Amino acid sequence: FLGTNMAQRVATADGGNKKTSRVRVAVRLRPYMGKLDEKNEGLCVRGLDSQNLEIINWRNATETVKYHFDVFHGEQTTQQEVFLSSVKPVLPHILNGQNASVFAYGPTGAGKTHTMLGSSEQPGVIPRAVREVFKLVKAKDEGEGWEYSIGMSYLEIYNEKVLDLLSPGSQDLPIREDKDKNILIPGLTHTTISSFSDFDKHFIPASLNRTTASTKLNQRSSRSHAILLIKVVRTQRALSHRQQTGKLYLVDLAGSEDNRRTGNQGIRLKESGAINLSLFTLSKVVDSLNSATAVRVPYRDSKLTRLLQDSLGGSAHSVMITNIAPEYKYYFDTFTALNFAAKSKLIVNKPFTRETVAVPVLPVKRARDDHEAGGSDS
Ligand code: ADP
Ligand code: MG
Repeated sequence: FLGTNMAQRVATADGGNKKTSRVRVAVRLRPYMGKLDEKNEGLCVRGLDSQNLEIINWRNATETVKYHFDVFHGEQTTQQEVFLSSVKPVLPHILNGQNASVFAYGPTGAGKTHTMLGSSEQPGVIPRAVREVFKLVKAKDEGEGWEYSIGMSYLEIYNEKVLDLLSPGSQDLPIREDKDKNILIPGLTHTTISSFSDFDKHFIPASLNRTTASTKLNQRSSRSHAILLIKVVRTQRALSHRQQTGKLYLVDLAGSEDNRRTGNQGIRLKESGAINLSLFTLSKVVDSLNSATAVRVPYRDSKLTRLLQDSLGGSAHSVMITNIAPEYKYYFDTFTALNFAAKSKLIVNKPFTRETVAVPVLPVKRARDDHEAGGSDS
């Protein structure tokens, strides 16, 4: 054993008198891309089954390291399958005043934005989740006596600054906690939305702004955390007018690669340091939440974890989708990302065979995507 990380730890940790729930960890391997494999080295990682994968052991190429997760999504997995298995099950809770968060973690180029946003042909978690929330609200029985309202905010954490993406040019916003321990951002734009197209109308220009800016500002998108908040408020029609708020955070995290290794200097080094603070703290928070022993969860150590304090762990439902790439040029970043996400790992003493090099796989993958684009959207 290299280490058994969290293998022995149980599903619910009792941190004093408060029940905390584990963060579910899924890994998604994107398809092999020949153009990213200049030296034609093939794959260094591959899936084994629906919970396990293996990667070549750099210390000894005759060995592989095998990792175990809650879910493993192989390179053939469709957007629809990722949504159904990792995201859809948590959505009903936000109609009942509970909170949830979904993160895409992993190195730049491994598929975080593909997973969260996707494209018009292959929509990702965000459009599917928003459609599903509207569907769930419509399906609610009038007889239960609640009225529902759906709203959105969209923000970015860049260099430990909180920026409103629905109000371009806004300044760093403060994060506060109210007397009921709800986290809020005074001054953040919150827009009521009445349909999916209403959502799109606000979301698309804001995310385009972010992508366009990114090419000008040294791939800003790979160094900032993009955070979409969908809030469902329900109010009881009866006289007490009880109100419950459920929050869903959908987060495309900054790239997990260590920018220091690539020799960045000056402002860029400072930026990556700051990003590392939020990502580094997130890893400590997830580790504490998934630990069986009662430990302090260091939410307050970064902006990202402070913002997510009421929606990550505790009574919230959280899923982390770790995106990884199979080419050798990502090897060390993949290794680091897996070590963060793994429930356990094991060294297996057998050579890594390359029989699944993607040449025969890619056409099959394309055919599947075309089929998916043909309208199996939900
Ligand atoms: P990241 O956001 O992590 O930097 P991207 O989502 O931009 O990575 O993905 C990098 C490239 O790989 C993009 O061209 C994207 O379309 C492609 N890609 C990522 N994941 C998949 C996948 N599961 N299937 C097909 N293409 C993918
Ligand atoms: Mg991206």
